[in-house]
Amino acid sequence: MIIELEKGFPETVARITQLASKSGNSLETIHGGEIYDTLHCLGDTRQLATHIDYIANLPGVERVWRISSSYKNIAKVVSDENRQKVNRARRPVEVTGADGKVRKFGAGKHIFVVGPDSVQTREQTTIQARRIAEIGDRLGVRDRIIFRAGAYKPRTRPTDFRGLGLEAIDILDEVRETTGLPYVTEIMDHTLAEVLAPRVDMFQIGTRNAQDFKLLEAVGRHGKPVILKRGFGNDATEWFNAAEYIAIQGNLDIVLCERGVKTMFCKDGYNRYTPDFNVIRYAQEKTILPVVFDPSHAAGDDRLVAENYLASLAYRADGTLTEVIHNEDFRAEQQCDARQALHLDLFEKLVEATLQWEERIAPLQAQIEGYFESRKTGK
Ligand code: PEP
Ligand code: MN
Repeated sequence: MIIELEKGFPETVARITQLASKSGNSLETIHGGEIYDTLHCLGDTRQLATHIDYIANLPGVERVWRISSSYKNIAKVVSDENRQKVNRARRPVEVTGADGKVRKFGAGKHIFVVGPDSVQTREQTTIQARRIAEIGDRLGVRDRIIFRAGAYKPRTRPTDFRGLGLEAIDILDEVRETTGLPYVTEIMDHTLAEVLAPRVDMFQIGTRNAQDFKLLEAVGRHGKPVILKRGFGNDATEWFNAAEYIAIQGNLDIVLCERGVKTMFCKDGYNRYTPDFNVIRYAQEKTILPVVFDPSHAAGDDRLVAENYLASLAYRADGTLTEVIHNEDFRAEQQCDARQALHLDLFEKLVEATLQWEERIAPLQAQIEGYFESRKTGK
């Protein structure tokens, strides 16, 4: 449920807050234009909805919107009392670094999530993070970079390297202090949410755990921003409903990540997973969440990563999540996803390409998009 409210009615806000908390819901206020604010009621709002007429008649309440979707908390389309459909605004997700800079997913500028597959040693992690921060400073995009490295690794074979666990979190904490970059790391076990939430800047939920409902709920409860990868066998609606498991706990700081799906063509080595580029726009149209693309895990081979990455710009992803390597000698030592790690020098070129794209191509793309928009609205 969404409530549009005139500014300057604190008693109405207090009344709605009280009702919402009695029904087990929390409220998020989005401070809108000069006249109105929007109250977003989070959680399962069925009980609160029984008071809808009462709420609609409180002083200052302009309109109450219902959401007709199975993933209500993140759905883009809402309908008013006359069943007219309206699109909710997209909701950016913010992550702040120790450098004080705010990284904003879904606010129009590409966000670069980048780092090694996993923390293997302090040295490797520190070198990479430093070089990534330098690229950010050199190209003026520090406030768009989030460092990423795995501490807990989901592996197909139990005997493979499964991450350094808490030792890796210690290293990531250090790297955050020395570089100022915030970090994101994967969580696989809901019982660890309490320990990890106060330390990490952002969680990742990987493709294999994309429907681990206890994990989704735990991450929702702890209220940290999260990158939710699409389960490689999930259709788009299953993916959105997985996000709804997080949102219904009161956490809307979710970034969706497409990373490739298993198809009948995933064999013969050229196609580890099939990247589903078309789903990027669909997810942006169906939900209010930012949508990023992972060019690495679909590729499985560094020679395909740049192509995947560049293609996702055309599909207007809100960011990318790229696995990198700092020098070729380390490739033989890297214990997970070594083949798909892109050399940092090439990653820097991709950042430059992204900036060029934003400057030169994106305005033309917006004109093309404008044609379809006007066809939709008839204006
Ligand atoms: C990863 O990000 O390193 C990873 C294991 O990704 P995915 O869950 O997409 O396979
Ligand atoms: Mn990986």
